[in-house]
Amino acid sequence: MKLQNVERTAQEQGQLHQKLWEMTQTWKPDGVLPSATDLSRARASLPESLTEEGAGFDNTTQHILNDLVPAFNRSSLSPNYYGFVTGGITPAAQFADNLVSAYDQNVQVHLTEHSISTDVEHNALGLLADLLRLDRRQWHNGTFTTGGTAGNIHGLACGREFALRAAAKKKGIAVESVGEYGLFELIQATGLSGVQVLTTMPHSSLTKAAGILGIGRANVKSVCRDDHYLHFDLEKLEAELARSDKASIVAVSCGEVNTGHFATSTLSEMESLRKLCDKYGAWIHVDGAFGIFGRVLEGPEFATISKGCEGMELADSIAGDGHKLLNVPYDCGFFFCRHAGEAENVFQNANAAYLTGGQSDGPAIPSPLNIGMENSRRFRALPAYASLVAYGRSGYREMLQRQIRLARMLTGWLFDHPKYNVLPELGSKEALLDQTYISVLFSAKDEELNANLPKRINATSKMFLSGSAWQGRPACRIAISNWRVEEKRDFAVVTAVLDSVSGGRS
Ligand SMILES: *Cc1c(COP(=O)(O)O)cnc(C)c1O
Repeated sequence: MKLQNVERTAQEQGQLHQKLWEMTQTWKPDGVLPSATDLSRARASLPESLTEEGAGFDNTTQHILNDLVPAFNRSSLSPNYYGFVTGGITPAAQFADNLVSAYDQNVQVHLTEHSISTDVEHNALGLLADLLRLDRRQWHNGTFTTGGTAGNIHGLACGREFALRAAAKKKGIAVESVGEYGLFELIQATGLSGVQVLTTMPHSSLTKAAGILGIGRANVKSVCRDDHYLHFDLEKLEAELARSDKASIVAVSCGEVNTGHFATSTLSEMESLRKLCDKYGAWIHVDGAFGIFGRVLEGPEFATISKGCEGMELADSIAGDGHKLLNVPYDCGFFFCRHAGEAENVFQNANAAYLTGGQSDGPAIPSPLNIGMENSRRFRALPAYASLVAYGRSGYREMLQRQIRLARMLTGWLFDHPKYNVLPELGSKEALLDQTYISVLFSAKDEELNANLPKRINATSKMFLSGSAWQGRPACRIAISNWRVEEKRDFAVVTAVLDSVSGGRS
């Protein structure tokens, strides 16, 4: 089978694309997980080794469509898939993502006469900053990443640069760049014992980032209040910041992954964090994977959420996810940095003359390969661009409102249910509803039921949620992040499942 011999009429290709569109955008719920039969059939269909001749285009598309696709879960396609924080794919994003594959632009060097792709990426970052109410004059620096984890790596890497420079300066040593000289040499030269990340209920990927960057997973430390699961203890924080043997990064969980709650609850809290960090030369990184989108909300209905993401513009860097609440396909995340030159200290692709960008009359657009992890990169900004252009601020606000309203309807229903507990146990229903964002964390009161709850719920295939834990006890988490959410319809689906697995209210 020679590639050159495979020619298809435009009509044949068109039919294939139409089929894909029908399978996805106009798909109707028919279960969220593949059946055991579909899974075993798909496993059995996988080839044992590479063949010499190849099966050819037609056989391969048929194999994928008939054998493999039925064994995919319906994560982004179903409004009732509540596992992880999966998001959906808006029609505009799906259209754009197909173009990304078809045109396969390599968005690594800003070459003004070669392609518009770097301009589009830069523009999309600006639109995203607008959506998140981040002033472009300070915040239009950054890059699209593969996800929130990569965003957190960027944030801690820039923070490591900044904080080590500040700590060295206090000791009278001028440090240019960790990226240039290496972490170990700088630690030795400055006599510091290391870098620490001070935070509350960090996402696992923040700890992973610390491991990757030579900060050390063990140096991610909680400075949480004793009487609250997520809020900063400013005294504990200051005691750590004041240490003369450490350079410090403060990481704010703007949307904690289990509860969906926010680490700060007022602008003045962020102002206090900023003051402390300025005093001690620390960097503030915000992990806003899904929480940062709370900044599109308005009005008293969502006041507590709005306050939870107030003041994030005072941070030094912000990481967020595209493939969650922005509802663009995997993989897409973003990283914003208030210090225009900092990322280049870490990520510069030095000494590659053939990779220097061209000049243009437009805005100074850095070559992505000098400010982010990858050199060759997918044009993952295009689906984000398409979706932002297509739906605008109100499109995203309206989408998020539906998601939160469904989460709150479920929270209220679970709170009143004799067989379930809503977590964290905050006492009053009002307090819980007020703080509910897009996640609902809950458990069954009965131990036996609780132990197998996610399994039983997911076995219905009418919905899917994540198994989790809260204070040592198994828990379930519903994360609502799909643009297809319809409050009333989905409330009926979820409550019917939860009633059936618990045997009803009696
Ligand atoms: C999902 C998530 C991440 C990691 O993002 P990926 O896109 O999975 O890499 C980081 N932080 C928080 C709060 C998240 O919810």
